[in-house]
Amino acid sequence: MSNAQKDDPKEAQKDVSQDRQKQMLADHFGQLARAKENNRKVAYTFVPGNLTELLGIFDMRRVYPDITARPAARGQTRAGYSRAAERQGHNEDVCTYVKCDIGMMSQGNKGPTGEQLPAPDLLLLSYTGCFTFLKWFELLQKEYNCELAMLHVPYVAGERPTEEMRQYVAKQLREEIIPRLERISGKKYDEAALKERLKRSAQAEDDLVWVLESAKHRPSPIDGYFGAVYYVGPIFTAFRGTEPCRDYYRALRAEVQGRLDRHEGPVTPDGTLTKEKFRLVVEGPPNWTHFRDFWRIFHDEGAVFVASTYAKVGGLYDEGFRHDQTDDPLLALADYCMGCYTNLSLPRRVGLLEKYVKDFQADGFVFNSVKSCNSFSAGQLVMLRELEKRTGVPGAFIETDLVDPRYYGHANIKNRIESYLQMLAQRMGSTASLGTGS
Ligand code: SF4
Repeated sequence: MSNAQKDDPKEAQKDVSQDRQKQMLADHFGQLARAKENNRKVAYTFVPGNLTELLGIFDMRRVYPDITARPAARGQTRAGYSRAAERQGHNEDVCTYVKCDIGMMSQGNKGPTGEQLPAPDLLLLSYTGCFTFLKWFELLQKEYNCELAMLHVPYVAGERPTEEMRQYVAKQLREEIIPRLERISGKKYDEAALKERLKRSAQAEDDLVWVLESAKHRPSPIDGYFGAVYYVGPIFTAFRGTEPCRDYYRALRAEVQGRLDRHEGPVTPDGTLTKEKFRLVVEGPPNWTHFRDFWRIFHDEGAVFVASTYAKVGGLYDEGFRHDQTDDPLLALADYCMGCYTNLSLPRRVGLLEKYVKDFQADGFVFNSVKSCNSFSAGQLVMLRELEKRTGVPGAFIETDLVDPRYYGHANIKNRIESYLQMLAQRMGSTASLGTGS
């Protein structure tokens, strides 16, 4: 595929909440850079099924390699972090998040703000829906020679986790993970403090769900995919359970309420989308290397994503889960870990997409199949056909990658999406013709 249309350097238009989040991230990475001189312990962990609140009560700083690999991809050198990892022997087909992280590590391990990330005291693997996570941490352990703890999270093949599965995860937390955190941090487990954090998480989760559901309005005041990846940032990562996180979501909700009151569409990097022509649902992660160009292909045509499954990889809150839903905080953490989107069976994923198409009154849906993420991509064509059958709506299928720019083909994607929207416009009886939505 070609590598056309790099994101242009023109300043993107942003929500006030995006600036606020940028500041939170700058503070976070600044604290990480000073973690060692401040004698703070550092845990590396992944987004899906993370135990952020638990790490928080042990005062451990948190790094999420599946997040830090993304900005690294945007700012990578011409040779690229992926290529650097390939030169070390990592195959072209290996998950590009892994290669980006390994390549970044070999070139100074600088985070998104340009400051160096501290070495981990602990690699905490709390999610096994994707086997790659395990191999990724094995590679990091070899590099850092630090402790590795693994919470085994059962795959939810049925409708819901069984009681045995919940107890199994909670027991591991109680008997293996917490004692390990106590030993590394030198602090005692404080259940009351954990409950306090989980309560703040739930408050933020309420507001996040409200924001994502605001897309049921016409016009939608948000983009539930490109915009939502910013919205889910704090709650999916180091901030969940903290006061700044709770306050961020309260402010975000007020901001979106303002757009609803003014009947405004989503803010895109090129301005507010003034005419919503197509309402779409999307499955699969976005491409990060050409994020703005990718978004523009849709918003140029007045297409808004009203819901996405990707905004659920770090927690499926719209299905009702909240971190304070049970008196036993360890059971709540168990429910959270097992309920993340990529730990769900294919039938449940299809069911969720069907619900989104219907509840958000979508005109169509798009599958973005990313080359190097088998966890997301396996079964997607089968899912697409099943979804078409259940909804009577035709879907579109495109292919990109997460962080490898070699697999982003601008012209190819644009042609496919334009043809797809043309077809949707005909089905819709053509109140929607192609053209600018901004
Ligand atoms: S294969 Fe997919 S789910 Fe697994 S680590 Fe890579 S990006 Fe994450």
